[in-house]
Amino acid sequence: MQILGRALLGRWALAYAVLIGLALMAAQGHAQDNRLSALAQMDPARSSITGDAKETRLRLGISQPVAWRAFLLDSPPRLVVDFREVDFGGHDPAKMLGRGGVSALRWGPFRPGWSRMVAELTGPMKIASAQLHTGESPDVDISLTPVSKDRFETAKGDPDSALWDLPQPTPVTPPILRQDGTRALRVVLDPGHGGIDPGAEADGTTEAVVVLTFARELKEALSRAGIDVVMTRNENTFVPLETRLTIARQAEADLFISLHADAVQSGHASGTTIYMLADKATDSASQKLAERHDRADILAGVDLDGHGDDVARILMDLARTETRPRTVRFTQVLAGAMKAGGISLYKNPVQGADFSVLKSADFPSVLIELGFLDATADRKKLLDDTWRKHMAQVITQAVQTWAQSDAAEARLLRK
Ligand SMILES: [Zn+2]
Repeated sequence: MQILGRALLGRWALAYAVLIGLALMAAQGHAQDNRLSALAQMDPARSSITGDAKETRLRLGISQPVAWRAFLLDSPPRLVVDFREVDFGGHDPAKMLGRGGVSALRWGPFRPGWSRMVAELTGPMKIASAQLHTGESPDVDISLTPVSKDRFETAKGDPDSALWDLPQPTPVTPPILRQDGTRALRVVLDPGHGGIDPGAEADGTTEAVVVLTFARELKEALSRAGIDVVMTRNENTFVPLETRLTIARQAEADLFISLHADAVQSGHASGTTIYMLADKATDSASQKLAERHDRADILAGVDLDGHGDDVARILMDLARTETRPRTVRFTQVLAGAMKAGGISLYKNPVQGADFSVLKSADFPSVLIELGFLDATADRKKLLDDTWRKHMAQVITQAVQTWAQSDAAEARLLRK
């Protein structure tokens, strides 16, 4: 039985493909069938990549039909196929290479209940057809044809995803709303340092790179939770502190989170610390930290003076009076979520310091020192995928919790 042969283009097509997979099962009366929860086996004897310059055909034999979806990603161009419960066994994907426009192939478990196959393409292509054949010998049959770079731009699935192995499109999550309920909550993530300002360095690792990696992962986690995310930098480039704030203001941030992993040579144990703005630093280590961050800007040739007009400062202070309790509340929720999530915290996890990047009056702002790069235990965690993923989850949870109570508070105040 041939189910479908149509081009799958873009995000909607993904959802469509998943629906097709699911609808198929329902149509066949398999919806309650126990076999559905069993793993389908990939059959190498019925799997192949064939083709020429005009068409690449990818067939993957499976022991039973499963829900699936196919989409394209860029940089490099690649085809991603997700399967519900397919076991690829120990089969070597390289054995399928040789013909058609696929230069590399990998597959394996993706997340609980899902497996993924990623085919790197020799150039931009479109999915000309994607079908699931059922019956005696079920297989997924995908035909790809070359397109111009421009056409590919419109056909690819998820342009936000820089890394192929990040968790991928989940069904649409209802957005977490901002305080006044008018739109989705928007969080601005600010990976510290970058470019000519590498931040702390220890054992070949720089703060600028570590916090960027984490920020990208956190962005994914927040986005999946229905939260809008804007980044102050997406690459390892230098962005002045003022520009970071301008980006946040222009984005109409509801919450600003600056991410750091500094080194503090003395007087500071390991663990995560949360900072918020204070005229007086909690302790001298915090004071030094704040000064060092401003100095990086000065060294890079940015003048932090000259916006210190007194009237402006008083107005700023007034505005901060409104955002401050919201910031305090977020630091409390965040520290609580971290504690509950087993994240190792600095002994006084919430600290105050005079960080320029936290000075915006318009939205609650915090700075998270994820860990200290010069503490071996912290560095290990920062470089560990699993730890970062967990930390991203904990922060996401805290943002959700805070957003709810923040909105409830606003409703009370309006009454
Ligand atoms: Zn830093």
